[in-house]
Amino acid sequence: MTKTKIVTDFRAGLASGELLVQNCNDCGKPNMWPRYACPHCQSDNLGWIKSSGKGSLHSFCVLRQGGPEGFEADIPYAIGVVKLDEGVQVAVRLQPAGGDDWSAYQCDDRVEFVGKEDGRECAVFRRSGS
Ligand SMILES: [Zn+2]
Repeated sequence: MTKTKIVTDFRAGLASGELLVQNCNDCGKPNMWPRYACPHCQSDNLGWIKSSGKGSLHSFCVLRQGGPEGFEADIPYAIGVVKLDEGVQVAVRLQPAGGDDWSAYQCDDRVEFVGKEDGRECAVFRRSGS
């Protein structure tokens, strides 16, 4: 598996509306972010599974100023860490309730995958009821 292959598969999934999680074909455990070898058994026999897109919001931050280089034009935006129901964590963008309002978000909220961020190779999540 090449470095480009890791990025290509994940991004192709996002572009088609799927959140993919790398999965070890030998020990069966998920990996996130994708790696060249399984961190559990060191196998390089790795594949992909489609995530349920559901998880819990582990942590988040709303950036209203001082965006890092290359992200200044995105301000304001919210980034979060979601613990997927598959057991791995992923860094995401959080969809505002409207405009630039993320005030309803709280840690441990149930969240769901919405799709790909416009112009970024990043998954977008929003609050969900389940
Ligand atoms: Zn493994």
